[in-house]
Amino acid sequence: MIGRRLFCTCTCAAVLAPAGVRAQAAAPASAGSAGPALVEDLVAANRILFDQGVVDGFGHVSVRHDKDPSRYLLSRSMAPGLVTADDIMEFDLDGTPVDARGRAVYLERFIHGEIFRMHPAVMSVVHSHSPAVIPFGVSKVALRPLYHMSGFLGAGAPVFEIRDAGGPATDMLIRNRELGRALATALGDHPVMLMRGHGSVVVGPGIRQAVFRAVYTEVNARMEGEALRLGDVTFLNEQEAAWAMETNAGQVNRPWELWRKKAMEGR
Ligand SMILES: [Zn+2]
Repeated sequence: MIGRRLFCTCTCAAVLAPAGVRAQAAAPASAGSAGPALVEDLVAANRILFDQGVVDGFGHVSVRHDKDPSRYLLSRSMAPGLVTADDIMEFDLDGTPVDARGRAVYLERFIHGEIFRMHPAVMSVVHSHSPAVIPFGVSKVALRPLYHMSGFLGAGAPVFEIRDAGGPATDMLIRNRELGRALATALGDHPVMLMRGHGSVVVGPGIRQAVFRAVYTEVNARMEGEALRLGDVTFLNEQEAAWAMETNAGQVNRPWELWRKKAMEGR
């Protein structure tokens, strides 16, 4: 961790990188300005995820830098629903900001850097505490694809147990590189992984796909909880899930444009 905690009790709190610490560890060089369209999509992703009920005051979304795969873009520490282009910061994979300028950074940014480091095909990461998903991380019931929109869930989302990496006495947060590496390892090739007693990570080969998956992960969880109360549930089998995922991959822009318009109207 490069900074000192400012808020000691709240979850996913922020830290500032104090000048003294940054003076010892030189800030990494910038990869240069990211493409304006990428930054625009990242701002929209923040707003959409809030508008669609995936994130609230907490949670974050990142995208890999389009000029350097060893850099990523992430908002400064703030509520995603309020993010603008001016709030977007560049980080190296260690989670060190290129140009902190005293801005607070997300305590759990190691989720993003370590996933980007370990999984070169991942271009975007969403971390949230979306509520309908939480029960599937703490029970023996797997989050599985209930309908075609969530075919990306495949054979079911794995659950990350932080005690395996951090022992029995963590605050549940991915607050350092070691925990981030354990999380990225457990993720493997899965697009979605639950975090027991905390939330989830959702990844994609692009930011719009990651947002699509994050939204439908939450919707699927909500519906699966309802369906299980009715009795036995028939889920998509792995072939159905795979084909549905492939079909939907070509349709991502349709909901994106709708969600974006609605989410950005209140700017
Ligand atoms: Zn979190």
